[in-house]
Amino acid sequence: MIYIKTDAEVELLRQSNLLVSQTLAELARHIRPGVTTLYLDGIAETFIRDHGALPGFKGYAGFPNTLCTSVNEKVVHGIPSDYTLEEGDIISVDCGVILNGFYGDSAYTFPVGEVKPEIMRLLEYTRASLEAGVKEAVAGNRVGDISHAVQKKAESGGYSVVRTLVGHGLGRNLHEGPEVPNFGKRGSGPRLERNMVICIEPMINMGTKNTRVAADAWTVSTGDWKPSAHYEYAVAVREGKADQLTTFEYIEEVLTKR
Ligand code: MG
Ligand code: MG
Repeated sequence: MIYIKTDAEVELLRQSNLLVSQTLAELARHIRPGVTTLYLDGIAETFIRDHGALPGFKGYAGFPNTLCTSVNEKVVHGIPSDYTLEEGDIISVDCGVILNGFYGDSAYTFPVGEVKPEIMRLLEYTRASLEAGVKEAVAGNRVGDISHAVQKKAESGGYSVVRTLVGHGLGRNLHEGPEVPNFGKRGSGPRLERNMVICIEPMINMGTKNTRVAADAWTVSTGDWKPSAHYEYAVAVREGKADQLTTFEYIEEVLTKR
């Protein structure tokens, strides 16, 4: 089901997604070799509750934690654990909140300490593929215009696009229509309308596009155990230019100071 939001609902979604942006920036202060993913999860949960919101993922379809923490070959939906981050890891942190009845949802892949240049390049291309998708999130375009732009940018770097998971509409539900694949044909799919709010979230792999699901029934990994990166923005569709409800500015302020 696709729900077109009112202007007032878009403002509420802006607040929810702003809190996610701030939570990810708080985590940026703590991500370093030697910390566990469960420690990061605790920081996020406390931060979210201290701001009058609820963790959006905890209990969603039975997910046990506040964050999805997906390290290296893990694509998404990693469950926080006693795994200790190591120098050279990358970690995708996906965070959701519920504030005033509306969800925020966004993800950022952080380098842990010094990361190999070829893996930093994967991060750069994944981020650029997200930005290319956002440029197409304008009224009158179709979902396939976003999908095509993401895929084109990612594949231009020699990377592959995960097919088994997609972006989505966002509102009073964490996952609403339309689905927003990261691959597809220009001019295909549902028409984008003003005040549709969608999450664009490329999951881009260094090697094969194929994925596997772990025995925990959540953690998605690459089929060849090569690294995967993931970034996610929530945006409101507008005429001419998408209205970005997520910002990575707070994260990057923290990262550049470190
Ligand atoms: Mg999402
Ligand atoms: Mg997410």
